[in-house]
Amino acid sequence: MKFQYLGTAAAEGIPALVCNCERCVRSREIGGRALRTRSQAIIDDKLLLDFPADTVAHTLAHKIDLIKVTDCIITHTHSDHLYPADFEMFRPGFAFTPEGWHMTFHGSTRVGEKILPHLAGKLTDMNIVYFEEVETYVPKNIGGYTVTPLKAIHDPKSGPLFYQISDGEKTVLYANDTNYFDDSVWEYWENTKPYFNMVSLDCTNACKPLTYIGHMSFAENLKVRDRMLEMGIADKNTKFISNHFSHNGTNVVYDDFVAIAAKEGFLVSYDGMTLDI
Ligand SMILES: [Zn+2]
Ligand SMILES: [Zn+2]
Ligand SMILES: [Zn+2]
Repeated sequence: MKFQYLGTAAAEGIPALVCNCERCVRSREIGGRALRTRSQAIIDDKLLLDFPADTVAHTLAHKIDLIKVTDCIITHTHSDHLYPADFEMFRPGFAFTPEGWHMTFHGSTRVGEKILPHLAGKLTDMNIVYFEEVETYVPKNIGGYTVTPLKAIHDPKSGPLFYQISDGEKTVLYANDTNYFDDSVWEYWENTKPYFNMVSLDCTNACKPLTYIGHMSFAENLKVRDRMLEMGIADKNTKFISNHFSHNGTNVVYDDFVAIAAKEGFLVSYDGMTLDI
């Protein structure tokens, strides 16, 4: 399985859209991996995870051909993960797509409520874009992958989920925009005993201790890792990766955080990072 990060920041990006904080100024100076766009990833060049406003920039920067993508899984409705105004760009005239080509978006009821007004009477009638609802803890075949939506602890109005994705051989966890995991997630894993080859975790706050609910810092990433190892659903061969960073975090600049994470055996995501899982 090929897993590629396309965007690795929280809503405002790093450097943030309008910001002169020390983290943003340094990230701007350093460039390269220190520059983070809004969150998105892609598996095997064909299964897209999230659809932020930076999608067009990602296709340009990483030579992504969205015609190869048949399905897109949406984590929740926040704009760094879902930017429905760009559905307009799927319309004939803005897009030249092969006969019979279409893309299906998958997500919670809330995600559907945000997407469907952009499709009704338009793109779905033209057989170009569809929406299908997913159910928490019910595995679903999406584009040949078994995708299991898991409950995220995040703004409930955004219909938040995170996803376990398997190609039958390898399984990855893409978990951002969630607090330390809900009890129901751990119970689901106790009952189903999956094995994860890769675990991508929300690290919005980096080294800054968490004072609110809805994201994680590196301290929570370590707690998740330790519990997964204890349960035997991950082991020393599992790649643990911190992802989804905000300029509000401490030691959040890529070049600072990568050394801190390495001491704990964690990798740090960057835009374009590609892993052979
Ligand atoms: Zn986010
Ligand atoms: Zn900043
Ligand atoms: Zn969010």
